[in-house]
Amino acid sequence: MSRPAFFVGPWDLDRRLACVPDHPDQGTVVLVESISKSKALPFHRKKLVLIRSALSHFAAELEADGFTVEQVRARSFLDGIQAHVKRYGSTKVVALRPREWGLDSALSEAASTGALGVPLELHDDGGPGGHFLLTRDEFSDWAGDKAQLRMDVFYRWMRRRSGILMESNKPVGGKWSFDKANRKSVKGEQPPPLPHFDPDAITQRIMAEVAVWDGYWGSVEGFGWPVTRAQAVEALQGFIEERLCRFGDFQDAMVEGQSFLWHACLSPALNIGLLSPQDLLHAVIEAHESGRAPLNAVEGFVRQVLGWREFMRGMYWRRMPELRAANAWQADQPLPPMFWQPDQAQEACVRDALSSVRDHGYAHHIQRLMVLGNLGLLLGVRPIELSHWFWAAFVDAYEWVELPNVHGMALAADTTFTTKPYAASGAYINRMSNHCRGCRFSVRKRAGADACPFNALFWDFMVRHRERISKNPRMGVLYRSWDRWSEAEQADIRATASAHRARLTAHAIAVEVHDDDG
Ligand code: SF4
Repeated sequence: MSRPAFFVGPWDLDRRLACVPDHPDQGTVVLVESISKSKALPFHRKKLVLIRSALSHFAAELEADGFTVEQVRARSFLDGIQAHVKRYGSTKVVALRPREWGLDSALSEAASTGALGVPLELHDDGGPGGHFLLTRDEFSDWAGDKAQLRMDVFYRWMRRRSGILMESNKPVGGKWSFDKANRKSVKGEQPPPLPHFDPDAITQRIMAEVAVWDGYWGSVEGFGWPVTRAQAVEALQGFIEERLCRFGDFQDAMVEGQSFLWHACLSPALNIGLLSPQDLLHAVIEAHESGRAPLNAVEGFVRQVLGWREFMRGMYWRRMPELRAANAWQADQPLPPMFWQPDQAQEACVRDALSSVRDHGYAHHIQRLMVLGNLGLLLGVRPIELSHWFWAAFVDAYEWVELPNVHGMALAADTTFTTKPYAASGAYINRMSNHCRGCRFSVRKRAGADACPFNALFWDFMVRHRERISKNPRMGVLYRSWDRWSEAEQADIRATASAHRARLTAHAIAVEVHDDDG
């Protein structure tokens, strides 16, 4: 008997989504591994293991529950769906709109041209039956024709709309954000270990395959990310019980050799559907209401999921495809090769963040924004090169989330996201970490061979973009310091910046990229 086919993308691994049938009689399920997508970038091998293993586990779980499931490895997602439709004589295809622009365009076109030979029913990937809290139209309605869209304004709107952490239409605790309480340094406290999920037979088989694939980055060794819904729920519970209580305090802290600290580290599971944003929000609110987590931690976490994540996804669809080309500072430098070769990094803070990415496919948000993103901004790295690196290297990165974060926030290459760039000198990193005391550079120096590169590059960036930055009241005041220094001192700082830039960007590594393949 011919039935509909349900296309479950590798990012749709949630039984509650509209692209997964409720009952085996409703239709067949097709899960596709796209060969061209896996070759679009030199992805981290742990990311490939995560996605392939989670997909295989999801297929096995559906099969065990009586569903007819086909897991296809095909040249592209569309080819895989088409082959399934032919084999099963499907009457139509049901899918969620894909999260990335290239495949979303391809499926939308297939839906309108009838390229699959049967109707293609595309559901919004947000709202009821979707993965995100908002539909794409709901975000567009909020954004309207505003020239500049602010995350904090969006976040307040989402709090009011959802009623989360609200009391009589006022924020619980009297403030929308407890960010200022979330900047403590770690002084001797030891974070609990992150749960490690030992690879089962399926994951081990995939690790063995991926380990010998050429053209990828990092190693499969030590893989321990959750690959099933049950493991993801266990990871969420572990976060709530062991780390959420200090998550807020140490949210912005960095400690040498500590990749995870008190962070949730749930985004790899969340971004492929093993958890939903509602799962996370319910769990942290429940922990707060039962007195197990302080407000500063819970609000900080809610801001990430309810505010930041939805805002990034909304902005991605609003600004694509132009967002890829955004380059407001006319940055023209290549990505430093140390991003692919962390051992080459001489800067302790950069080496630690890059090593964490190489070893785990993960670094936490302040390492991403204030070390790696900040370095890219100050050096003047071409935005798309840094963006591609984030996309390839992080186990939780997909274009919908990394592009707005890199182009919109970290590099301020697109002018619609932020009022000021997140540019910072070494003083910020020194305040938030213990890296500087073991670094070969001196964070107190602005000029000279042993001066912290972030210091000279920060002032060089400020001077190069004085006309634009001086109009910003929060950053413009910094020029008073620069103007006080002698011409000789200013020249030394700029010469130091040039030397660091030449050293850091020499021998750039060319990477082949196919953004829309899949
Ligand atoms: Fe990083 Fe500069 Fe500190 Fe070294 S001195 S760890 S480069 S901020």
